[in-house]
Parts: sequence; structure tokens; C-alpha cells
Amino acid sequence: MTKNNYGEFKYKGKNDNIDVLITIAKNNNGNIGEYQDEIFCPECGKARLKFTNETNNRRPFLSAIDSKEHSDSCNYLLPQLTKNQTKKIFEELTENESEDKMNALMRQLCINDEKNKKINPDSSETKANLFEVVSKKNTKSQVKSLKTKSLNKEISFENKNEDICAFYGKNVQLFPIEKTKDDKVYYLLGIKTENGDKEVYKTIKKNEFDQNSRYNIVCVGFFKFKKIQLIHKDKAIKIVEIE
Ligand SMILES: [Zn+2]
Repeated sequence: MTKNNYGEFKYKGKNDNIDVLITIAKNNNGNIGEYQDEIFCPECGKARLKFTNETNNRRPFLSAIDSKEHSDSCNYLLPQLTKNQTKKIFEELTENESEDKMNALMRQLCINDEKNKKINPDSSETKANLFEVVSKKNTKSQVKSLKTKSLNKEISFENKNEDICAFYGKNVQLFPIEKTKDDKVYYLLGIKTENGDKEVYKTIKKNEFDQNSRYNIVCVGFFKFKKIQLIHKDKAIKIVEIE
């Protein structure tokens, strides 16, 4: 059985990030209060999850109490992609292929998701966060899933070197974050959400984004040094201005 961990969970029918639980546990002697026994798989909503607190050498994580509880078509039954596998996938994708993949992720995570789930929560339609990985040993391919995490929700920046995720932000503002190195000024991408600002390690032009506009953003990466580090600097990010 695969040992998946979860970046998101479902509580009272809504998805949220694990970071919410991390904050509560930190302020509550390790207890997650009302969330205890009420958190479920972010996709099928059926498998019960449990929160395991951090120790000196282990990050906090969410896991399924019994993976048999997932619905049969739940993607969380599939093994998850590692950082190295994802890196290799993006390196090997052509520009067109990565464009298609990022567009599909955008549709799944920012546009259609809530609608789709209501129509058919058990839909087995191929999800954009699934990737085929070919094993070196026997050239057999296996479908693996990429974890997802909302940028609109709370994210704990203290989580160092987290697992690889497809991060998505809906209806956010984008702004330049000024940095200096060797007396030279440059700008990194900032994302303003209702739950605080997030930073992506991607250099942008100062006026690249209209600060009165709203955007949907999807990027594949992991948190390190309090920023999202992209798994590929060009191919792993997609930004669309909302009309
Ligand atoms: Zn599930």
C-alpha cells in the first residue's frame, strides 16, 4: 500500500491546507481541537485522515487512517511523485507539452474544480495532476499523482523543504518584491491573497503585472527559504489574467 501524505484535507465539506492544523497544534499543546476525527481525504472526502505532530526530526503530516476507505477512483490511492521524478518529467516535457499540462492544471485547480466535484464527485476522468512515470529498471510505466495545495489558504512558511506540490491561487493579485544582491536590484514574484502574501522564487520585471488586475496562478514546486522554489523555472508556472 502506498504511504501518501496530504497537503490538503476536507473539513465540513471544504478543503483547507495542512498548515491550518499545524498552527492550531502549535498553539494547543499538539491538539487539533474540533478538527480531530473530522478531517477527510481532500479528493473523495471518504477516507478519514489523522494528523501526526512534528517531532525534532520529523515534519508534521496528514495520513489516511485506513486507505481502503478511499473511493475506488480516488487519486490519493496512487503513489505520489517525488521531487526528483517531477524535476525529470518537467525537464523532458517539450515547451508545448508543459504548456498543455499547466493549462490542464489551471482548469482543474482554478476553474472547473468545484463545479466538477458537485456534478460527479467520483468522476474517474483523468486528472491533470497525474503523471506517467517510467521506471528505469523495467521500462514499465506507472501513474503517480502530484500533491496540490491552495495559495488562497493559510500556508506555514516554517515548513522547510516541503514535498513537491502543484500550488494554485484563484483570483489573486501579483506584485513585485524588491531584492538586492551585490548592489543590484531585482524583483521576485509576490502573490497577495486573503490569507497573506506568498513569494515565488521567480524573477519578474517591476511592472510585469498590473496591480489592479486579478490573476489565476498555478506553479509546481516546493517551499524552501520561505518561498516557492519552482521545479523548472519556465515550464512549471502558469499565470492567467482574469477577464
Ligand atoms: Zn480519497
